[in-house]
Amino acid sequence: MPRLLAGTRPAATARHQGGAVLRTAQHRTAQQADVVIVGAGIAGLAAAHHLTGAGATVSVLEADSRVGGRMATDEVDGFRLDRIGQLLSTAHPELRRTPGLDGLVLRAFAPGVLVHSGGRRRRFAEGRGARGALTTARALASAPRPLDQARLSAALARLATTDDGRLARRAETTAAGAAAAWGLPARSSDSFLHPLLTALLLDRELGSSSRVADLALRDFARGRLCLPEGGCGTLPERLAAALPPGTVRTGVHVTAASTSVVSTKEHGEIGCRALLVATGARAAAELLPGLRVPDFHPVTVLHHSVPQPPPVGSSLVLDGDRSGPVSHTAVLSAVDPTRAPAGRTLVTSTVPGRSPAGIDRPVRAQLSALYGVPTEDWELLAVHHDPEAVPAMTPPHDPRRPVRVLSGLYVCGDHRDTGSAQGALRSARRAAHAVLRDFGMSPSHLPHGLPQVA
Ligand SMILES: Cc1cc2nc3c(=O)[nH]c(=O)nc-3n(C[C@H](O)[C@H](O)[C@H](O)COP(=O)(O)OP(=O)(O)OC[C@H]3O[C@@H](n4cnc5c(N)ncnc54)[C@H](O)[C@@H]3O)c2cc1C
Repeated sequence: MPRLLAGTRPAATARHQGGAVLRTAQHRTAQQADVVIVGAGIAGLAAAHHLTGAGATVSVLEADSRVGGRMATDEVDGFRLDRIGQLLSTAHPELRRTPGLDGLVLRAFAPGVLVHSGGRRRRFAEGRGARGALTTARALASAPRPLDQARLSAALARLATTDDGRLARRAETTAAGAAAAWGLPARSSDSFLHPLLTALLLDRELGSSSRVADLALRDFARGRLCLPEGGCGTLPERLAAALPPGTVRTGVHVTAASTSVVSTKEHGEIGCRALLVATGARAAAELLPGLRVPDFHPVTVLHHSVPQPPPVGSSLVLDGDRSGPVSHTAVLSAVDPTRAPAGRTLVTSTVPGRSPAGIDRPVRAQLSALYGVPTEDWELLAVHHDPEAVPAMTPPHDPRRPVRVLSGLYVCGDHRDTGSAQGALRSARRAAHAVLRDFGMSPSHLPHGLPQVA
């Protein structure tokens, strides 16, 4: 058991007076802080905001040389290439509830989705400027057959107004079971609901919990699919930049941890009053033996530089026939022009599941059908494969898994919630609030800026 560091400092004091948080005697040194957070993915960084906002001192230790974890963007030949096939929703509540995200610009896809099926592309939810609840659902009512419009739009509209409590009380099954329960004709379900859920859950078999499917479809019905301008890496970079200087330390690998001290490879021991493990599920289980390691869904993302923009505008394109490995694809430079150098076009495609060697060939063939253009001259810029991209969320799945192990020891990350950016951010808020409750401190309710949607 690691020793308790002598002189571990008392909590930074924070108290509410007239609604404002008074911060006094804040003190963090390189070797101690009120809370040490392991991992500077979006969960660890968001938790740091909730904690520092309430007056606690925090040290975020990140093994990698950059922040962001899975949400990383690489610069290649002037293109900004995400390692993940990031789909956010403007309706994700945590994008508004997490401090430090003001200045983040969310680039919205064209409303709804473009589904390719039977040699045709059909737009669902076209041109309604979907911003608020129900807009997408209403717009679906005008989409052409063969979709069962009335049932689908009614079901989405109901979902859009269903609160968390009612969703949680629904009988739990798989996402495939939930899709079947919508009562759509098989063809409509197969060519719209199935591919949409595959894209949202990154789960080709739809074995994920129906609860997670309901949450994802509800966000789809309430808002617009979107991605961070400049690449998904801008989200964690903004979070890190908005923290007090010195809070985040990269290149620090934590090898062991307890409630009062963490051991690092590079900088010896760091003392704390509480430890928050904000790594992925596998690394969390290494630091906190006894934590369950879930199964994972592998995902591959391919980026192509293409000579001419395919004629789909800024739509997310789904393969309603599921004719190849790609679940969804888009001309990302049309959604977010900062992703490609001027005059160049970037197409990004996502392949859920195992990815065989030589994946580019079947992907190109499928993309040629989906976009209706030849793809032989497309230049492959990068292929990113992550065998543990997202934790599997098979039923029974609790999207509010415990984040407090014991007083002084906490855990957050997408594996405690839903395997998504929204889930990682919400788990961070829950964990930070648990720490503050144990410290006898209150979360800050000071207003903060919000991301803009462009
Ligand atoms: C290919 C792919 C596609 C995805 N697509 C989507 C999508 O479309 N929509 C969506 O919402 N989500 C998507 N996701 C999921 C989303 O990216 C994650 O849910 C989210 O980024 C998880 O954040 P996190 O902070 O919980 O974990 P992570 O991002 O994994 O962060 C954990 C951090 O802990 C650090 N760490 C680990 N061990 C140690 C240690 N011992 N010491 C110090 N640091 C350590 C790691 O280096 C890492 O930076 C996708 C993920 C992938 C990989």
